[in-house]
Amino acid sequence: MPTSVDFSLGSVAVALTPRERFAEFLQARGKRITRQRQAIVDHVASRHEHFDAEQLLAELRQSRAGAGASRPTVYRTLTEMVEAGLLKKMVLAGRSVYEHDYGYPQHDHLHCTVCEKLIEFSSADVEAICAAVAARHRFAARGHRLIVSGICAECRSTRSRSRHQDRV
Ligand SMILES: [Zn+2]
Ligand SMILES: [Zn+2]
Repeated sequence: MPTSVDFSLGSVAVALTPRERFAEFLQARGKRITRQRQAIVDHVASRHEHFDAEQLLAELRQSRAGAGASRPTVYRTLTEMVEAGLLKKMVLAGRSVYEHDYGYPQHDHLHCTVCEKLIEFSSADVEAICAAVAARHRFAARGHRLIVSGICAECRSTRSRSRHQDRV
């Protein structure tokens, strides 16, 4: 494959803000959007990294709006945000990691098993393979998830440095 292939993610236009979409989702289920839930949604919408529930809880406790959010509320709201299509959840080495889904392009990940870093990429070839396999099985595909596990460039150079030092 030529090195000039573009693996960047591009962008997706959405009609509603995450807050509006979440309010709609809750209303359809007869639930109220409480101030705590609102603070959690706003905080999550303001960031774009991958995160887990405990990281989010720690950040909320530092913030003024989210300081009162309890652990059960954070976990419940994250589950609701996944159901509302705002977030996607991945389980990596037993850890549940969340990331934006609504308004965020379809993409895949390289996962470093040493530092837990996630590198995002998007590939038309991967899409084409999934579509071809699905067609072969007359399968109505709704999405896919590809996680390549391994060791990132930084962790590899740290490792080879420490191996080198051992020998000296
Ligand atoms: Zn790494
Ligand atoms: Zn991602």
